[in-house]
Amino acid sequence: MKKREPLGRTIALIAALISTAALPAVATAASTKAMKAEAVAQVAAQAKQVQVMVDQVFSYAEPGFQEIRTSEYLSRILEENGFTVTRGVAGIPTAFTATWGSGGPLIALGSDIDGLLGVSQTPGSPDVKPLIAGAPGHGEGHNSGMPMMIAAAIAVKQVMEKNKIPGRLMLWPGVAEELLATKAYYVRSGMFKDVDACIFGHVNTGFGTGYGEMGMNGMVSVEYEFSGKTAHSAAMPWEGRSALDAVEFMDTAWNFRREHLPLSQRSHDVITNGGGQPNVVPGKASVWYYFRDREFSSVRSLYETGNEIADAAAQATGTSVKRRVLGYAAPNFGNKPMAEAADANIRAVGMPAWSTADQAFVSAVQKANHLKAGPLASSVTPLSTPENRMAGGFGASDDIGDVMWTVPTITIGYPANIPNVIFHHATAAMAMATPIAHKGTVAGAKAVAMTVLDLMTSPKLLAEAKSYFRDVQLKTQTYDPVLTPTDQPAIDRNEKVMKELRPAMEKFYYDPSRYGSYLEQLGISYTAAGGGSDGK
Ligand SMILES: [Zn+2]
Repeated sequence: MKKREPLGRTIALIAALISTAALPAVATAASTKAMKAEAVAQVAAQAKQVQVMVDQVFSYAEPGFQEIRTSEYLSRILEENGFTVTRGVAGIPTAFTATWGSGGPLIALGSDIDGLLGVSQTPGSPDVKPLIAGAPGHGEGHNSGMPMMIAAAIAVKQVMEKNKIPGRLMLWPGVAEELLATKAYYVRSGMFKDVDACIFGHVNTGFGTGYGEMGMNGMVSVEYEFSGKTAHSAAMPWEGRSALDAVEFMDTAWNFRREHLPLSQRSHDVITNGGGQPNVVPGKASVWYYFRDREFSSVRSLYETGNEIADAAAQATGTSVKRRVLGYAAPNFGNKPMAEAADANIRAVGMPAWSTADQAFVSAVQKANHLKAGPLASSVTPLSTPENRMAGGFGASDDIGDVMWTVPTITIGYPANIPNVIFHHATAAMAMATPIAHKGTVAGAKAVAMTVLDLMTSPKLLAEAKSYFRDVQLKTQTYDPVLTPTDQPAIDRNEKVMKELRPAMEKFYYDPSRYGSYLEQLGISYTAAGGGSDGK
């Protein structure tokens, strides 16, 4: 062994020299800067395509698990641009991965694609005006996220090919995010097994990112189905056992128990089945709960309390209960080194150049809907840190948390919506197929592309991201989803409602071969909507 050591060293040295020679010139800070400028120009060149994608997905407006047209449309664009698409991943028909590249790091890029039930809205209208009454709509802006990631990925791919940078990209859509229903399954299926880092994008009114415990709740979504026995409610009520009684009992018990739960928890429910008609004792009834809290252990504890109360309600009413987990979301935790890199890029990109028409539309929307007034921001949002973040947290959840506890991840918020609108409401859909959404999405794509290039060309940044993930984040908590091996994605969700509504919705699909924009197809004047004149 001892004798052979110098030879081993020589071989190692030669190997190192060869591998260095075979690689393209190691990216210096200066060359990364130049490549970022190329990527920004490539994204800018795709502005028209971004508008088409944002408008197209807005017009599809498909709710969770029914993103059939959306998924087909987005994955086909990636295929046409040289990505290898695998459809139906993690047992979810509308989920896919689109990969490209070889060697180097594997960077994942994702964003949500689903709409919301009942918030159909005419874009470019400051008044609540559904395109189709009762139909789903993009009342949050999930129509813009994947178009942003696709524009960024195409730009990065072009720059990497030109400069012979090794590395791989994997794009993935957030299916059924509004149901918090897929990302834990993505993780469980091993989708992120070889991923080095992940950038997630979410529509926002500001442009920024953050790190640390993000103040978002973890949560479990679970439906309890009670089974009793039907009977004539008047003639033979003693023969019946009411499943609806059990649901009401459960809700009452939960609301009493609420007083003695941690102040940090948030929980809410809807009765999804309350029986058929009063003279039939309900044999089946269901209630759907969201249990939320800031930590893995407290989410699990709420869930266990809910299960106990459901069992007690069944016992008290002589019924039985089965539960089905419909979704799960881990608390969110952003990666500090990645967030700092992204923040510098966001600052370099800056806010979109908002026009007078954009600002006029914003104030028309705020005025018509009695929202707090305030223009589109003119400067980017400061980096959100555990020190400067609002102490109480934000209440809401995002199942990107599950990815965040699997690989180093950040969320970049990009400025594609109107300040002070109500999310999950028509007001949050009004701007989502207008120049505000188009410009904000392009700005976001530039920052994403630049951050991907940082990760691809700086082994130091990637190492720091991984060490923060391992040595800081994982020291605070351990990833502990409540999913059991038998839980399966609720892919049947929204099937019925879409079967009913899709024929009417199809008439409103955007046809970019005939119209320059969706607003044009709908015959909407953006400037007039903002109270301005149409004349230039
Ligand atoms: Zn969302």
